[in-house]
Amino acid sequence: MTTEPPDSIAKVSSEVVVCTKCRLCETRRNAVPGEGLESSKVIFVGEAPGEQEDAQGRPFVGAAGKLLTELLASVSLRREDVYITNIVKCRPPNNRPPRKDEAAACRPYLVRQISLITPRIICPMGNSAIHALTGSDKSVTDLHGMLLEIGQVTFFPMYHPAAALYTFQLRKVMEEDFRKLRGLLDSLSG
Ligand code: URA
Ligand code: SF4
Repeated sequence: MTTEPPDSIAKVSSEVVVCTKCRLCETRRNAVPGEGLESSKVIFVGEAPGEQEDAQGRPFVGAAGKLLTELLASVSLRREDVYITNIVKCRPPNNRPPRKDEAAACRPYLVRQISLITPRIICPMGNSAIHALTGSDKSVTDLHGMLLEIGQVTFFPMYHPAAALYTFQLRKVMEEDFRKLRGLLDSLSG
């Protein structure tokens, strides 16, 4: 009888970096599995790696990532205190939005990451992640900063940090949402 070794974040990451389950493997330089604290109470999920992320194999290390890091710092969180990943783990050519079949092919990795980390709150950032994770077709404008309980899972949708690079006023909105999130995390038992 063979016993399967238990699943782990390291195992997911090692599979992602060699994955060929969708066409994005043909154009990526480096797949970007995700990084952070494996016991985190919160997981941030973006859309897809961009140019910097593809070059470095790490999530949110470009301009949007710098803003995400600052927003975390504004509520005394470091990147190492949370887990950060994306709906698809490989960069789409010219940063086009991921296609449905690509997101579907990649989904098992995200599902495993979520079941291993068992976060209390999942933060999809931007419409693409909100729609893929919650199944809602409402806009981030309507859903950001609100708790959405779907089944056993608690979502806290947020704007994508890249949006605040284009629309400066959104930075204040995002800061307020991060303060709310921080309050929610602090109020969790255990
Ligand atoms: N935008 C995303 O959605 N994800 C990243 O990792 C970087 C930028
Ligand atoms: Fe595999 Fe996901 Fe990369 Fe597609 S995007 S090749 S499914 S890791």
